[in-house]
Amino acid sequence: MRLETLVARGEQLNQALGREWYLTGAGLKPDPAFTEIYDRHAVLQEADALACAAESGVAALREWIVDLRVGRRVAPFEERQLEWEQQAGLTVHGRAIPYLRAGIELQNSPDRTFRIALDQERAAVGAAGLNGLRHDRLAAERDVVCALSGDVDFVRAVARLSGMDLDTLASQAAALLDDTADLYAEALARLTRRRVGVPAGELVRADSAWAFRADAYDSAFPQDRMRDTAVRQMREMGLDALAGGRITVDTEERPGKQPRAFCVPVRVPFEVYLVLRPSGGHGDYRTFWHELGHAMHFAAVDPGRPFHERWLGDNSVTEAFAMLWDHLTLDAGWLGRYTEMGEKGRSGRKGRIADLQFELAVSELHLLRRYAAKLAYEMALHRSDYGPAMADEYAERISAATGFRYVGEDYLRDVDPGFYAARYLRAWQLEATLASGLVERFDEDWYRNPRAGTFVHALMEPGQANPADEVARLIGRPGLSFATAIARLTPFLA
Ligand SMILES: [Zn+2]
Repeated sequence: MRLETLVARGEQLNQALGREWYLTGAGLKPDPAFTEIYDRHAVLQEADALACAAESGVAALREWIVDLRVGRRVAPFEERQLEWEQQAGLTVHGRAIPYLRAGIELQNSPDRTFRIALDQERAAVGAAGLNGLRHDRLAAERDVVCALSGDVDFVRAVARLSGMDLDTLASQAAALLDDTADLYAEALARLTRRRVGVPAGELVRADSAWAFRADAYDSAFPQDRMRDTAVRQMREMGLDALAGGRITVDTEERPGKQPRAFCVPVRVPFEVYLVLRPSGGHGDYRTFWHELGHAMHFAAVDPGRPFHERWLGDNSVTEAFAMLWDHLTLDAGWLGRYTEMGEKGRSGRKGRIADLQFELAVSELHLLRRYAAKLAYEMALHRSDYGPAMADEYAERISAATGFRYVGEDYLRDVDPGFYAARYLRAWQLEATLASGLVERFDEDWYRNPRAGTFVHALMEPGQANPADEVARLIGRPGLSFATAIARLTPFLA
């Protein structure tokens, strides 16, 4: 196979898959057809395609072909999971709740007894309906990757294929868990004492989303102004949030829409979708800015760049740009300027923003610690037989890291396939590096400085041509670590 053919077919396939993800994820199409799409491009599944990608010398192409093999093999499982999720329902305290709305309900229910019942029902129904599928899906992915890379160890095979140093990242993550343990425990206890009303030792998973919901500030984050605010803020930075119509925003409430927001490119850089199912308050703003970071990154890529730079590469990079935007919503100056937090409250404007910042900082450290623990857990899981013996290890590790008691039943569903957790952790590292670089060059309020906009746009324009560690070096930093991220959070928590 010639490289031009490989790339041309690849572009067609990625466009078709992107459109299918958009339509099914947004709840616009009930019957996902991923398998059919892969089969239309079956030529990319052949040995010839892998050989061509390997000979090209472009690591991202080889990784992508392996991903396609995985994608085709797991597509039937993904389709069944999507279909199951869209029809599954829960009954809690006599109320019928669609399975896909459980997360939103958990986040918005002050009644702890109801939350605990809902979370138990969600975990039990989810395990019964999906754990078999998830088991087979994860095992199939491991089979394909190990067979194609000639390595019996899946973790090592992924590390080689992706260029991510998973062992180093895992030891950095373990150190992060140690270094922030006391800081986190004290801050969490302070927050949950008033918010949940039980001693820290009694917190359970059902409390976590509610604990960080920050609903007292909802009126400062009106849903109907989210998009216009983004357009205004980006304009002040000299950027176009909708990239001249390349980005389509879908924030409507719709049955069958995935609760987890996402951004999907259909043609890079010309057609990008941002999909969000609103659940209220600051969380929506943060998620919207996150997905907008992805969308603007895809839409900013130079169309003259080759396929692998526009579509492929280290997803830690696009996640870092997404986080660069979503972390703006944690900044005091940004909150004062772009939200109603700027209005004077009872405790004064500054006090109110500081209170919110404390809650957001605890939530941020919670998330970072959760992902650090997830990486260690997933490395152990992929070296196991995916059997129920791993459920205890899951519950233990995630509970210890987050301070909320988790149940084991989620041990196969709370897994990001392909070590996406590692991409998030690297993104946290890169984002903190980018943000500190921007503050140094353009000051604290770089988000309204057109020179900073030009600078960021230039970093986005190569797509993912460079891996995250290389992007850090491009702005003059030695490499990736958690030090900057922790240093930034600490003052808000102490
Ligand atoms: Zn993301």
